[in-house]
Amino acid sequence: MRTQVVIIGSGPSGLLLGQLLAKAGVETTILEQKSKDYVLGRIRAGVLEQGAVGLLEEAGAATRLHSEGLVHEGIEIAFDGARHRVDFKALTGKTVTVYGQTEVTRDLMDARAAIGAPTVYEALDVTLSDLESERPKVRYVEDGKDCEIECDYVAGCDGFHGVGRRSIPETVLRTYERVYPFGWLGVLVEKPPIAHELIYINHARGFALCSMRSTTRSRYYLQCRLDERVEEWSDDRFWEELTRRLDPEIARSLQTGPSIEKSIAPLRSFVAEPMRFGRLFLAGDAAHIVPPTGAKGLNLAASDVAYLSRALIERYSVGSLEGLDGYPKKALARIWKAERFSWWMTQMLHRFPESSGFDQKMQTAELDYLFSSKAAQTALTENYVGLPY
Ligand SMILES: Cc1cc2nc3c(=O)[nH]c(=O)nc-3n(C[C@H](O)[C@H](O)[C@H](O)COP(=O)(O)OP(=O)(O)OC[C@H]3O[C@@H](n4cnc5c(N)ncnc54)[C@H](O)[C@@H]3O)c2cc1C
Repeated sequence: MRTQVVIIGSGPSGLLLGQLLAKAGVETTILEQKSKDYVLGRIRAGVLEQGAVGLLEEAGAATRLHSEGLVHEGIEIAFDGARHRVDFKALTGKTVTVYGQTEVTRDLMDARAAIGAPTVYEALDVTLSDLESERPKVRYVEDGKDCEIECDYVAGCDGFHGVGRRSIPETVLRTYERVYPFGWLGVLVEKPPIAHELIYINHARGFALCSMRSTTRSRYYLQCRLDERVEEWSDDRFWEELTRRLDPEIARSLQTGPSIEKSIAPLRSFVAEPMRFGRLFLAGDAAHIVPPTGAKGLNLAASDVAYLSRALIERYSVGSLEGLDGYPKKALARIWKAERFSWWMTQMLHRFPESSGFDQKMQTAELDYLFSSKAAQTALTENYVGLPY
C-alpha cells in the first residue's frame, strides 16, 4: 500500500489534519489503535479558541458547532469571598466557544466518512521505519494480518503515549517537564450549568472549576491529592466538597445529580523538541502537554495542525519545503507561550502543598493586581482567547 501522508492517531489533531489535507487534495490514511466508539467515548476538553473554530470551519466540520456551541464572552474568578469577571469581548473583541471535544471528534469523523478518506481503527503494533529516507514505512497489524504502508510523510498525532515521539532517537529528542503536586477530579453531570460562564475558584480548600459542555450538561473539577482514588469519591462527597469551595450565593444555583463520568487527571507541563525527525512530524499531545487550567490542550493541537497542514499543502501544491523546514520553530514558539500561560494560571489558582507564607502572599498579590488592572486582564484575555497563528 502507498499514500502521501500516514497520520497516526484519530484524536482531534489527526482528524483535523486529515480533513484539511483531504480538502486540498492530499491523500492520507489514518491509523488508530482504538475502536471508533472508544475514541468517541473519551471525555476531555471543551473550550475552543476562535482560531480552532476557524479551522473547523475550513475543514467543513463546523455546522453543528455553530448551532450547538455556546459563545462565551468572559470568565469569572472567585477568590477570598468575591467573584471577579474578566470580560474578553470588552477587552479584546474576541470570544471562546464551549463545545465538547467528543463532539469535535464526531463532527470530524463524519466529515472524513463523507469524503471517503480511509481510517483504520484497531490498527495495532504500529511501527515507523526509514523516517530519514524518501520513503518512510509504517507497519501495523489489522485483524491479525501484518500490513505495511509506504508514504512521503508521517504525522505523529498519537497523543502523549503514542509511538510517534518514541520513534525519535533519544540522542535527538530533548524534553522539558514539570509535574504538579495535585490532580483534577472531574465529574460530568446531565444538569444545566451553575452559571452562564466558567467560574475558576481559588479557595483555601483547593482549586475548583465550574465548567460545562452544553446548556444541559455540566463539568465540575476539584483539585485533589495525587494519591486519591476515584472510588473514594462518591457523588455525594464530590457535591459536598464543591459546595464548600463555592461562595454561598452561587452555591444556591448548583444542580447536582448522578455523575455520568468521574475521573482523576494528573497535571503536567511537558514539551518535546524538535517536533520533527526526518519525514516524521509531531503535532498535538504527542509533542506537548499543558495543565488544563488555561484550556489550551485541544487548542494547541489545532494550531500545530494549522502550521503543519499549510506546510504539507505547500509541499504538494508548489513543491516548496520551506514550510516543513520551518514547522518546528514556528509551532514551538506558540507552544511555549501557551505553556507559560497554562503554568501561570495553574500557579495563580491552585493551593500548593509546599507553599510558604511568602508564596501565599505572592499569589494574593498576583490576584489583587489582576482584579484591579485592565492591562493584566487584557494579557490574560489575549492568551485565553488564543494568540494568533
Ligand atoms: C483525561 C484528560 C482530560 C483532559 N481535559 C482537558 C480539558 O479539560 N481542557 C483542555 O483544554 N484539554 C484537556 N485535555 C487535553 C486535550 O484533550 C488534548 O490536548 C487533546 O486531546 C489533544 O489531541 P491529540 O489529537 O493531539 O491527542 P489525543 O486526543 O490523545 O489523540 C491521540 C490518538 O492517538 C491514538 N494513539 C495513541 N497511540 C497510538 C498508536 N501507537 N497507534 C495508533 N494510534 C495511537 C489514541 O488512541 C488517540 O485516539 C485533557 C486530556 C486528558 C487525557
